[in-house]
This record gives sequence, structure tokens and C-alpha cells, in this order.
Amino acid sequence: MLQRTFLALSRAGWAQDLITQMPVSRQMARRFVSGETIGAAIAAARALNAKGLLATLDFLGESVTNEAEARRAADEYLRALDEIAAGGVRANVSLKLTQFGLDLDYDFCLQNVRRVATHARSCGNFVRVDMEGTLHTDRTLALVRALHSECGNIGAVIQAYLYRSEADLLALADAGIRIRLCKGAYQEPPDKAYPNKADVDANYIKLAQLLLDRSANAERSDDGRIPPLAALATHDEKMIAAAQAYAEAHHIPHDRFEFQMLYGVRRELQERLAAKGYAVRIYVPYGTHWYPYFMRRLAERPANVWFFVRSTFAK
Ligand SMILES: Cc1cc2nc3c(=O)[nH]c(=O)nc-3n(C[C@H](O)[C@H](O)[C@H](O)COP(=O)(O)OP(=O)(O)OC[C@H]3O[C@@H](n4cnc5c(N)ncnc54)[C@H](O)[C@@H]3O)c2cc1C
Repeated sequence: MLQRTFLALSRAGWAQDLITQMPVSRQMARRFVSGETIGAAIAAARALNAKGLLATLDFLGESVTNEAEARRAADEYLRALDEIAAGGVRANVSLKLTQFGLDLDYDFCLQNVRRVATHARSCGNFVRVDMEGTLHTDRTLALVRALHSECGNIGAVIQAYLYRSEADLLALADAGIRIRLCKGAYQEPPDKAYPNKADVDANYIKLAQLLLDRSANAERSDDGRIPPLAALATHDEKMIAAAQAYAEAHHIPHDRFEFQMLYGVRRELQERLAAKGYAVRIYVPYGTHWYPYFMRRLAERPANVWFFVRSTFAK
């Protein structure tokens, strides 16, 4: 109920106006967002690299309403790729298609992302396309497939809460497309997504095993930018332990997969896994459009919501 409320608020303009004005929101969002500028994101990525962690930089933004805004987002990603290259930072980039104009026009969005993918390729880098709500799933997968066949350096995200995900994952892996597996962060109806957490968790483990099998023989680069075929994005220790046990039982080496977590979430777990020799990549968001991202982070954990509510009403 609480989760649904916060996911609904993440899309409400009036709530955005109200909540972003509150100093407590800005303060709390700082836990999940590295800063407003590319400089702040690069500094955060460097600090992570120093701890043996990799990064993926995300310029916050989604659901743009005009082409100029979408072009500006692409320009920012070109700058981010240049800064990563110039600084020798072990990071790639993650982007959302609704920030690149998917809701305006598919072909425009494709061209806009193509600019970034082409530039990333010339820098020896990689672009991950985040997955948004189910209104966008088919077009997102189509776009990733199209640019994968042109550039090769672009990957997708599969959400374990969707019934369709096993078929999508197998098709992408067969095409050699790198996959990030997550549970899924949007509000979806019960005819599209498992309503119960236990079913989502069980599907996550099943899909992680399928993905690990596919990644066992896939190629990988070790410069910290191009990820392996399998990226397991979760902070759930049960999911992580299941993946570790499966990899060990099937002799899948550590360099065939990576774990991924969000900036500011379970930092001690991030470092613990890296210390054990696992590749761990941290999703590092930056920019001023933090509201929907922040609300999804609140929705994921009731304790975050209560902390937010208590702080809002505390004197
Ligand atoms: C690198 C990365 C990229 C992602 N990309 C996408 C994407 O493209 N599309 C998409 O739909 N979703 C994406 N997600 C979000 C994902 O779908 C989940 O909503 C999120 O990761 C929470 O699920 P969990 O696997 O951590 O498990 P959960 O069962 O939700 O959480 C397990 C434990 O992790 C901790 N935890 C989890 N979330 C939080 C939080 N916000 N604050 C504090 N503690 C927390 C808590 O201790 C919790 O008990 C991504 C997540 C990661 C890590």
C-alpha cells in the first residue's frame, strides 16, 4: 500500500513541486544521488574505484516533453563519456529512453541514443539502457537490439517481476546482448507482473541462473567499463547468496558476471563483495531531476519512508 502510494507520487507533478521544495527531501535525496554535476559524479566514481568498486553514471532525467530537452540529455552523456575517458575512471553509463525522447518519437529517440552509443564505442565504453514501465518494454528492447547490431556496446535490463522476462532474457542472451537483471521498480498490474514479493524473488533466482549459464562462456573485457554478459543488480543477500552458490557449483568464474548496486544503498555489502574478489558496479546518479528516482528508492524500503515522514514532521 505504502509502496504503491510512493510509486504513484513519483509520477504526480503536484507532489514533485511540493516535495522537491522541502529541505528534508533534498537532504535525504543526497544519500542516493552523488550531486548535481558531472564533476560530482566523477568524484564519486573515483572514490568508488579507490575502494575496488566499478561505476555506471546516470544523468537523472525521464519523460522529457520536447526534442530539445532530449538532445540536451544526449549532449550531457557525450560529456560524461569524455570525462570518464579523460580521467581514466572505471565507469560506463546508464540512460533512460524516456529521457531520450521515446515518448515523442521512436526514430528520433533511436538517433539520439545512437549518438551516445557511437561516441561510447569510440571511447571503448558501454551504454546500459535502463528498463522503465511496461508501456516502454517492447520499444526499449527493439531499440537495444537495433543499436546492438550496429555498435555492439549497448546492453539491456530485465525485470524479474514481469511474467514475460524469461523469454526476453533468453532471446537477448542468444543475441549476445549484455543483460542487467533486477527485480523491477515500477508499479505494474497483476496481469503483467507478479504481485507477490516471494514470486518475484523466486523468479529472480531462476533468471539469474539462466543468465549465469549463458555468461559462462561469453567473452569479457577487464578494463572495468565493458561489463560481462551477466550483471546481477540487487541488494538482497538471499539473491546474492543464491547466485554465488550457483556460480560455484557450476564452476563459473568470478569474471563472468558482476553484481550491481545503487549508490548509497548497502555500502558495507558492496565493499564486502568486492573484498571477496567479485566485480561490483555501483549505479551513480547525478543531476537536478532527482525526484522520481528518489521516490522509487523510498518505495523500495518502508524504513526509508518512515524516516522521511518522521523527518518531515519533526520540529
Ligand atoms: C544497479 C541497479 C540498477 C537498476 N536498474 C533498474 C532498471 O533499469 N529498471 C528497474 O525497474 N529497476 C532497476 N533497479 C531497481 C530494482 O528493480 C529494485 O527496485 C531495487 O534494486 C530493490 O530491489 P532489491 O533487489 O535490492 O531487493 P529488495 O528485496 O527490494 O531489497 C533487499 C534489501 O536491500 C536493501 N534495499 C533495497 N532497496 C533499498 C533502498 N532503496 N534503500 C535502502 N535499502 C534498500 C534493504 O536492506 C532490503 O531489505 C536497479 C537496481 C540496481 C541495484
